[in-house]
Amino acid sequence: MKKVAIIGGGLGGLSAAITLQNAGFQVDVYEKNDHFGGKLMGVKLGDYHFDFGPNTITMPHVFNRVIEQTGERAGDYFEMMKLQDHTRNIFPDGSHYDFTSRMDRAVSQLEKLDPAGAERYPAFIREITSLYEKAEQHFFPRTFQSWTDYLSPSLAAAMMRVRPLQTLDAFFRQYFSDPRILNAYGRYATYIGSSPYRTPATFAMIAYLEMVEGVYYVKGGNVKIAEAYVSLAEKLGVKLHSGTEVKKVLLRGKKACGVELSSGEQIGADYVIMNADLLKAYPELVAEEDRPSFTDRKVARMEPSISAFVILAGVRKRFPQLRHHTVYFSRNYQQEFNDLFAHKHYSTDPTIYLSNSSYSDKDRSPKGDNLFILVNAPALPGSGKLQVDPSAYKELIYRKLAERGLDILPHIEVERVITPAEIADTFGAHRGALYGLSSNRVKDAFLRPGNASRDISGLYFTGGSTHPGGGSPMVTMSGMNVAKILMEKENHQTR
Ligand SMILES: Cc1cc2nc3c(=O)[nH]c(=O)nc-3n(C[C@H](O)[C@H](O)[C@H](O)COP(=O)(O)OP(=O)(O)OC[C@H]3O[C@@H](n4cnc5c(N)ncnc54)[C@H](O)[C@@H]3O)c2cc1C
Repeated sequence: MKKVAIIGGGLGGLSAAITLQNAGFQVDVYEKNDHFGGKLMGVKLGDYHFDFGPNTITMPHVFNRVIEQTGERAGDYFEMMKLQDHTRNIFPDGSHYDFTSRMDRAVSQLEKLDPAGAERYPAFIREITSLYEKAEQHFFPRTFQSWTDYLSPSLAAAMMRVRPLQTLDAFFRQYFSDPRILNAYGRYATYIGSSPYRTPATFAMIAYLEMVEGVYYVKGGNVKIAEAYVSLAEKLGVKLHSGTEVKKVLLRGKKACGVELSSGEQIGADYVIMNADLLKAYPELVAEEDRPSFTDRKVARMEPSISAFVILAGVRKRFPQLRHHTVYFSRNYQQEFNDLFAHKHYSTDPTIYLSNSSYSDKDRSPKGDNLFILVNAPALPGSGKLQVDPSAYKELIYRKLAERGLDILPHIEVERVITPAEIADTFGAHRGALYGLSSNRVKDAFLRPGNASRDISGLYFTGGSTHPGGGSPMVTMSGMNVAKILMEKENHQTR
C-alpha cells in the first residue's frame, strides 16, 4: 500500500485524502491547528455560531462529489440549501439590487435600475454560461504538472476563447451602464482576491455560478462540509493528526520521501502533498537549492490576493434590512481597489459585506443576528506588520454602517476581530492572502503554480495558491485533481 503524507488539513488536503484513501492509498494528514477544514472554520462566541471562511457557497456538486465518489450519499452528511434572492446589494443612494438566480426577478429589478441592462440580461446570461462551460471544459480538470502542460496548443486555443485580454469591468459594461449595477457585478473580482478593473473577463463565470446555478448554505453552518469530510476520512481509514506541524519535506536526492514534524519525528512516505499555502510553506519546508524553479525571489515577485478585516458580532436583535448576504457599497468603488492594490492601504470608505446566516437558519444564533462583517484588506507587507489599528478600523466600520441605518454597536453581545495578521498566522497564509495569488495579471490568473513540483519528484501541491485557483470549490477540486495524478501514476506502474 503506497503511503501519502499530506501537509495541511484544509479543503484541498481533505478532498485529496478522501479520494486517495478510497483508491487504496494509506493517507496521513498533518494539520498544525486543532481543527480540520483550514479557513473553513467554525467559531462559537457564547450562543452565537459563525462560519469564519467561506460564507458564500457555490458549485455544491463539487462538495458532494468528494463524498459520492466513495459510494456514500452527500445528503447523509450535510444538507445544502439554495438561497432565493441570495445577496442584497445596497447602494449609497439607498436603492438596492437583489442578486437572484431567477431571471424574471432579476429583469424586473433591472427595469427600474438599468433599463438597457434589463433588455440585455438574457444575452448576458448566455455569454456567462458559455464562459463557464469553456472554463469547466478546459481549465478545471487540468493539473499543470510540467512545462509542456503550460505550452500546449490546446490550452492556448482554449485561453483565447475565455476573453483573457478584456477586464471584468469592461465585460460587464457591454451589458450594463448604471454604476450601481456595474459595482455589484464587479465585486465578483473579490471572490478571487482581485480587482474588477484588472482581472480578466473570464471570471464573469462567477456571475454564472450565482445568477444561474445559485448560492447555497449548509444547514447548521458551512463548516458542516469540513466536519463531513473529517468523519468520512476517518471512516475510510485516513489517519488525521491535528495539532501536528510539519517542519520539513524529507528528500532522497531529488525525490520526496516523507516529512519531519516539529517534534523532530521523521515519517516516511511514497508521496507528499502540500496543502499548506504553497507560497509560504514551500520556501519554509524545502531548502532553496532544492527548488530552483521556485526561488524566494520568484515568490517575492508574486502578487498576493487581497486579505480581509473581519468582525464577528453577535447582536441581541434581528435587523430587518439584512438578508443572508448583504453588501453596503461605498461611494467610490474604483478608489477602493486603487487603495488596496496600488497604494496597499485600507480604504477609509470601504464596501462592507455582511453574512447573517441566522436569516436562513435561526438556530445558529437564537438570541439575534450572527454577523460576519468583512471588509477587503490589502495583503500584509513583506514585514508582516499590520497597516491599521484594529480597534480604530473596527469603529470606522461600525460608524459607516450606522450612517447607512445599520446601528450595530448598541446591540452587541459578543464580538471578535480577525485581522490579516491573524489569518496569516492561524492558517500559514502567505501575507494573510485569502486566495493565494491574485488573478489581476493574465499570467497569474491562468498560469498559477501547477500541482506538481518541477524540481522534486513525488511532491504535489493542492489549495488556493495552485491551479485551478482560490475559493472553496476550486480548492476542493484541486485536491481531487492531485489525487487523480497519483492514482494514474500508480496504475501506470503496476500495469
Ligand atoms: C475570511 C474569508 C472569507 C472567505 N470567503 C469565501 C467565500 O465566501 N466563498 C469561498 O468559496 N471561499 C471563501 N474563502 C476562501 C476559502 O476559505 C479558501 O479558498 C479555502 O478554504 C482554502 O482551502 P485550502 O485547502 O487551500 O487552504 P487552507 O484552508 O488554508 O488549509 C491549509 C491548512 O494547512 C495548515 N498548515 C499550514 N502550514 C502547515 C504546516 N507546516 N504543517 C501542518 N499544517 C499546516 C493550515 O493550518 C491550514 O489548516 C474565504 C476565506 C477567508 C479567510
